[in-house]
Amino acid sequence: MPLLVTGTIGIDTVHTPSAKAEEVSGGSCAYFAAAAAFHHAPVRIVGAVGGDWPEDHASLLESIDGLCLDGLERRNESKTFAWGGRYFDNMNQRETLFTELGVLEEAPPKVPASYGDSRLIFLANSHPNVQLDLLNQFPNRELAVADTMDLWINIAREELLTLFKEIDGLIINDSEAEQITEITNPITAARAILEMGPAFVIVKKGEHGAVLVHRDGIAVVPAYPLDLDGVIDPTGAGDSFAGGFMGYIAASGRLDFAAMQAGMGWGTVTASFTLGSFGLDGLCTTTREDLEARMLDFRQIAQIS
Ligand code: AMP
Repeated sequence: MPLLVTGTIGIDTVHTPSAKAEEVSGGSCAYFAAAAAFHHAPVRIVGAVGGDWPEDHASLLESIDGLCLDGLERRNESKTFAWGGRYFDNMNQRETLFTELGVLEEAPPKVPASYGDSRLIFLANSHPNVQLDLLNQFPNRELAVADTMDLWINIAREELLTLFKEIDGLIINDSEAEQITEITNPITAARAILEMGPAFVIVKKGEHGAVLVHRDGIAVVPAYPLDLDGVIDPTGAGDSFAGGFMGYIAASGRLDFAAMQAGMGWGTVTASFTLGSFGLDGLCTTTREDLEARMLDFRQIAQIS
């Protein structure tokens, strides 16, 4: 099933308790696409970068098999989206140090005509108006899933609530679920979000795994167990989870609850490779064989089929 993603392609600066990485390749769209491409190809990207987009970031994205970059706009007069964050000691929580919207403040990128038959749409983290604009161009889609973040919940809540009425699924973390609903329990918060429009919500809980609350049932998946010294940089893990999940759905061609439950396992294992390095490096140095081997291991550990 043809899969399209829009979101940010960013320049990230990440501080962890033991290291700092400057101007690494990131962005919600980039992480999602690199993760989804393990499962399904091509992953069609719609995004924009500015004239300051580093050449090595371009080469890295171009080197990933299974991405279609026809919808990647290079705007020489503009600035690339840039984000900086700092992780706290447990590597589970972070604060945003800066967000430079750059191209996100301009017109949304155009969708190439060749993407017209896309059926699965993932709206990675971006301004909800950009997400809505893209969605409106795909009236024949079969599944639309979105992600969002504290910034948009704070500054574009109304637009976000409009988006919720249009999407089938939402993938967020526990603090975002609480921020949207003011409910601390993730299950109750997810059920409250179902009332706002989506048919399912996946709430990610970092090292404690994720829960799928669907109109047809509920499913949980643990995190892949990693020691703290194996967690170098959690940035993009959420986007990579979503990429593994949606990539699996696209490859299976099924949209039912059981497929989503299986997709949660693949999302978890795919994301675990992002945690081991800064930027996209963790995903870029992983092979499909590595992924399958870790999935076998995870099935044993989590006792899932
Ligand atoms: P995650 O760790 O999965 O939440 O994803 C972090 C990635 O999302 C980083 O690579 C950032 O460049 C990007 N990002 C951070 N803040 C935003 C935002 N407000 N909108 C879109 N993308 C963002």
